[in-house]
Amino acid sequence: MMKKLVLLFMLQGLTVAAISQVKSQNVVVVTMDGFRWQELFGGADSLLSFEAGAKYNTKYVQRRFWADSEMERRKKLMPFLWGEIAKKGMLLGNRQAGNFVNTANMHRFSYPGYNEIFTGFPDSTVNSNGKIPNKNENVFEYLNKFPEFKGKTASFGSWDVFASIFNEKRSGFLVNDGFRDVPGKLTDKQTELNRLQHELPDLFHGGERLDVATFHMGLEYMKVNQPRLMHFGLGDTDEFAHAGQYDLYLDAANKSDDWIRQLWAYIQSTPFYANKTTLIITTDHGRGQAKGGGWKDHGREVTGADQIWIVAVGPSIPASGESAQKDQLFQGQIAATIAKLVGKEFKTNHPVLPAIPMLNK
Ligand SMILES: [Zn+2]
Repeated sequence: MMKKLVLLFMLQGLTVAAISQVKSQNVVVVTMDGFRWQELFGGADSLLSFEAGAKYNTKYVQRRFWADSEMERRKKLMPFLWGEIAKKGMLLGNRQAGNFVNTANMHRFSYPGYNEIFTGFPDSTVNSNGKIPNKNENVFEYLNKFPEFKGKTASFGSWDVFASIFNEKRSGFLVNDGFRDVPGKLTDKQTELNRLQHELPDLFHGGERLDVATFHMGLEYMKVNQPRLMHFGLGDTDEFAHAGQYDLYLDAANKSDDWIRQLWAYIQSTPFYANKTTLIITTDHGRGQAKGGGWKDHGREVTGADQIWIVAVGPSIPASGESAQKDQLFQGQIAATIAKLVGKEFKTNHPVLPAIPMLNK
């Protein structure tokens, strides 16, 4: 894997700033924290759905998400991704088909993962989930310096570390994370949502709000402000997996799928966004195997926690569905892809992995 990484960096050096026809004016990124490729491509895991003596409700899992084949199960879990996006976009990372997506960073936890996604640099010195302002420039920050994106960039995240990951002070775009209220002159709905987030159960004890708040606050912000670069940082999947609640982990993934449906419906029904917006969905890290309980965890020592996936749909994304191509892609290639989709080359003061070729046809 290291060989391939070195080669990728060399290729990046050779990349010409070829700005062909730019079809995408806007990019929206949705991250689902620690959501496994196993469930994305295979639906509810057979071992975990019938685990004897499980502390979560297996009957609920079976009732809502079980079916005999993996194809049926994944459709039950994520009907929008396997209905609409599988027809109109691309799904990368099905390892059973030989299509591999990995984190290039060795840490396999959240801050290093989000750093890799948005800076394109699998920086080994980014090795903490602490609220440390990120020294690496991210692609939103880079693009936000161009007049067409200035003030048209935002991130809404459930976890209160996103402001540090994006280095909001230096980046200068809006990061609404944790339990922060949306500032400024607000619509009635925004005022309500600001209030509501504090009234929902504080399941994750102060540092992270529920995704239902993050999603609706972010969507309303899009409706009011029409950002051209937007990030939704969802976190419920990771929290419920750590708690060993497979039932709620699946429920969170299923709800995320429906939020993505709502988001795409809004995008495609709004002249500002319709047919000129690319949606990228991915995760910061994988998790361990079902067998032995590894699925609850991730990190350097957890086998499989570097295994991730990328889903995309938009005007330059081929409608080829699930990729069965033998390939090895890395998380860090997303940053340059975002820039390239809007016709820019991400040039900054740290190395950046090259864009994913098949996401910009
Ligand atoms: Zn985690």
